Amino acid sequence: MNEENIYDIIIIGGGPAGLSAAQYAARMGMSTIVLDKSPLAGALASSNKIENYPGVMEPMTGPQLLELFKQQAISFGTRYIESLVVGAKLADEIKEVYAMDNTYKGRAVIIATGAMGRKPTIKGEKDLLGRGVSYCAVCDAAFYKNKVVCLVGESEEAIKESAVLARFADKVHFITTTNNTELLKHPTLSENKVNVLLNMRLVEIRGSDVVESIVLENKDDKTEIVLPADGIFMYLHGSRPIVDFLDYVVDISDDECIITNRMMETNIEGVFAAGDVTCVEVRQVVVAAANGCVAALSAEKYIHHRKRRRLAWG
Ligand SMILES: Cc1cc2nc3c(=O)[nH]c(=O)nc-3n(C[C@H](O)[C@H](O)[C@H](O)COP(=O)(O)OP(=O)(O)OC[C@H]3O[C@@H](n4cnc5c(N)ncnc54)[C@H](O)[C@@H]3O)c2cc1C
Repeated sequence: MNEENIYDIIIIGGGPAGLSAAQYAARMGMSTIVLDKSPLAGALASSNKIENYPGVMEPMTGPQLLELFKQQAISFGTRYIESLVVGAKLADEIKEVYAMDNTYKGRAVIIATGAMGRKPTIKGEKDLLGRGVSYCAVCDAAFYKNKVVCLVGESEEAIKESAVLARFADKVHFITTTNNTELLKHPTLSENKVNVLLNMRLVEIRGSDVVESIVLENKDDKTEIVLPADGIFMYLHGSRPIVDFLDYVVDISDDECIITNRMMETNIEGVFAAGDVTCVEVRQVVVAAANGCVAALSAEKYIHHRKRRRLAWG
């Protein structure tokens, strides 16, 4: 980063695509930052066993492989920040990326947010979004001091976020479709404030102006209960590319994946994309990592070309 706090390359997403891009970029001498919502949230993070990543003979969990990617990127000088990106201004020469903790400036941006996104599908979810429905406990937990909140999900990320909610709320209902009673023994979920509801499906979020209650259905006998709540935090995963924060300035296909050419360039100069967020035909770790490599080298070429042009004009 230079004295104006401008990075050469900002990478959004810390999965295999983003972290291999970071490794290549930093190793080429680019000042590089990775902004990652959570190391527990992506596709690789949710994989229990990986045994087909070339060169890795011993099977390992997704999070273990992810940690290797991360340490390698950091060893070459990458800065890694855990922060959710909520917006970006990408058209200008100096790009701005808005994360929960800060605004970051860079000459090039690589989007590598994966494809674990979903559209609001639960009745009431879209209408009450921002009025009790939230996707980020770290961002919104403080609004629920002494209140009752629900969290829907079952991933490690969901469990971690319920601990954040329990710091503020009086009661946290942790709602999951699984029937795994081991969850009840989890140190976070066995806290007094946390009430685990197993085998339940969220069917509706109710409220006239803000969230007032939710409706849950027992998966076996289909009976419904109405649970009063001031807020609900959604940690459900889908399989849609995560592009919501881009506000459609980057070309997106009908399937909502980012359109790139073979050099992982998007329609915007200096903006690249890699991994599952692109319209890649095969969603695999090795493909995401390869995309990340190409995106980083393209970004590096773009930055040097610009610098050379500026010198020539000077
Ligand atoms: C259950 C499962 C099992 C799999 N098993 C295999 C396998 O055995 N072998 C194999 O090769 N592939 C496997 N895959 C596929 C593989 O995991 C993906 O193809 C690969 O992880 C894609 O990498 P990525 O970096 O594009 O996305 P991801 O791994 O999804 O990483 C995206 C990252 O972006 C971050 N992010 C998202 N939104 C934001 C935001 N707004 N701001 C900041 N950061 C954000 C996320 O936190 C995450 O860290 C599996 C996938 C799943 C779901």
